[in-house]
Amino acid sequence: MLFPAKMPWLLKKLFPNYVWDFFSKNKNSSKKVLYLTFDDGPVPEATEFVLEELKKHNAKATFFCIGSNVEKHPDIFKKVVNDGHAIGNHTQHHVEGWNTSTQNYINNTLEAQQIIDKHLKKIQASNSNNSDIKNRQSKIVNLFRPPYGRIKRSQGKQLRKLGYNIIMWDVVSKDWREDVSEEDCLKNVIDNTVKGSIIVLHDSLKALKNVKFTLPKTLEYFSSKGYRFEKIEL
Ligand SMILES: [Zn+2]
Repeated sequence: MLFPAKMPWLLKKLFPNYVWDFFSKNKNSSKKVLYLTFDDGPVPEATEFVLEELKKHNAKATFFCIGSNVEKHPDIFKKVVNDGHAIGNHTQHHVEGWNTSTQNYINNTLEAQQIIDKHLKKIQASNSNNSDIKNRQSKIVNLFRPPYGRIKRSQGKQLRKLGYNIIMWDVVSKDWREDVSEEDCLKNVIDNTVKGSIIVLHDSLKALKNVKFTLPKTLEYFSSKGYRFEKIEL
């Protein structure tokens, strides 16, 4: 597997312009804040499970959405938005950067952006009578996560020029892997998380077995230690 559960410092050093965690940016931070991120949704069942669990702990998270899934499941996307979570771009078709030309990579990202923006507009219009949720996600989506974590330097550079923040992670749960047990998935998270960590999980059917085990326990464990879960806002 490409990534160990804890990101090595060398990778972070090679790509200093990407966001790996929020602790290293501010070494003096003593805030007990964690950033849960969910990739590959929105999809029925998986995303809905995640939303319910987050709600129980009053936790906010960041969802890196695949554009084609937003198109297929606009109602689920709406739930994510109206629950007050942050939205990020994860390309239209889950494109692998290393094997894709920079032009195609950017186009695929912009295609997803159009879909996301279109649906956000619709959601905002339908919320306009509800002052409680009216202004949720009124910010421009400026977060991007490369599928598989694979992105060429030129692609990253162009996306940053377009105004995206490239959000990586420092904790990988490996929730999507069939050879990773529920217990090991949870252990990956518990053992490697520090203040300011960005944790990768998936709201996908593939990862659902491990997420059903790991997410509630992660929320309970760190909440009981006084941590808060926040969305990424840049
Ligand atoms: Zn992905």
